[in-house]
Amino acid sequence: MKRLADDCFANAAEMISAAEAFDKIAKAATRIVSTELCPLSDCAGRILAKDIFAPVNVPPADNSAVDGFAFSFSDYENNPGHPRGIAGTSAAGHPFSGKAKKDQVIKILTGAVMPAGFDTVAMIEDVTLEDGNILLPVNLKPGANCRKAGEDIREGQLLLSKGTKLRPQEVGYLASIGTVSVSVYRRTRVALFSTGDELVNPGGDRFPGSIYDSNRFILAPTLRAFGCEVTDLGILRDGLETIRNALETAAKSHDLVVTSGGVSMGDEDHVKTALGEIGHLHFWRIAIKPGRPLALGQIGNSAFVGLPGNPIAALVCSLKFVRPLVAKLGGLTDMEMLSFKAKAGFSLNKKPGRTEWLRGRYSSGPHAIGTVEKFHTDGSGVLSSLVWANGLIEIDDDVTHIEKGDLVTFLPFSELLK
Ligand code: AMP
Ligand code: MG
Repeated sequence: MKRLADDCFANAAEMISAAEAFDKIAKAATRIVSTELCPLSDCAGRILAKDIFAPVNVPPADNSAVDGFAFSFSDYENNPGHPRGIAGTSAAGHPFSGKAKKDQVIKILTGAVMPAGFDTVAMIEDVTLEDGNILLPVNLKPGANCRKAGEDIREGQLLLSKGTKLRPQEVGYLASIGTVSVSVYRRTRVALFSTGDELVNPGGDRFPGSIYDSNRFILAPTLRAFGCEVTDLGILRDGLETIRNALETAAKSHDLVVTSGGVSMGDEDHVKTALGEIGHLHFWRIAIKPGRPLALGQIGNSAFVGLPGNPIAALVCSLKFVRPLVAKLGGLTDMEMLSFKAKAGFSLNKKPGRTEWLRGRYSSGPHAIGTVEKFHTDGSGVLSSLVWANGLIEIDDDVTHIEKGDLVTFLPFSELLK
């Protein structure tokens, strides 16, 4: 099955907006259908492949929300001031097994099952002990301090829908209904390459003109944070045959092949030619900064993304374009990502007609709305700026000027990387 439908590339020569690119990715990417059974303890971060219905109530029985004394509200209502004998104790995991009279109380601890016929709890701090009997406070409401069976989850209800990414709280939710394992979509298998004759692995021998490869070390954990299984296939030298063979082989065993570098118009930019020979490559001329050019395509049954070489553009494009692509391939249905407004701590002029992402650093400060600063230089190859930043400032196509104090959209890395 093709991972990216061909019609997403119609009119590829035209410049498209970021919004159009997002829309095309969402429409064209095909979900990987295979599923696997995953033990509950390993399923955090995975995407559910089946709806989950609750087989039991949670909590399974009425129980106390506090330490105190349980009693029958109807009896209390008739005679609130009556001194009540203590019939026994109900502790968490040890329900009261005896018989209590209607006008008695049961000492009850938090999480303990309510005795039959008792429906309300007075907190221990609020009662008075008098000659071994309990005096309940006045003005208690029926059902006070009692958690009802099924209050959290009702037997038979839809608990989680397929396509949900399981965060720790969803895993706990599943545990609370006794789940042992869940059906999840197989992880998207991604082959990752860097390209460039100048690149050296950290620890490798440097030579004149060399730089260390940083992109793979940015992109592999980024893709893993998106839930992918990443095969790091190292550095490809700038040669057509090398690139062609490596990509063709990788595509056979992966759902997605990701490269960085070599997609510009330079003499040593062979990715484009290689893709033309073994698959379909479609340059997407997207009106964005940083990030042009971004290449999308297909090699056999695998999707292909050629990210720009410069590390900032590679990261920004993977956060903004690869993330939704991977989400779609992986079967994720809820793409919610929190962004918020912050006051610009800078002013700037911008060309209209393109979306820009600046490296931003947000601080909440003492005011209701925090401030976001932009990095002092725009040079896109400055890794220090990514280390300094805690997110991206997103500036829409139509904006041409931002004044200090204007509200801008801030996307925290914590959201972009989830
Ligand atoms: P390219 O798109 O191949 O022309 O690369 C654009 C710029 O990004 C050049 O300055 C490259 O040296 C740099 N670059 C490409 N790949 C990497 C990488 N993996 N790590 C660091 N810099 C890179
Ligand atoms: Mg290059």
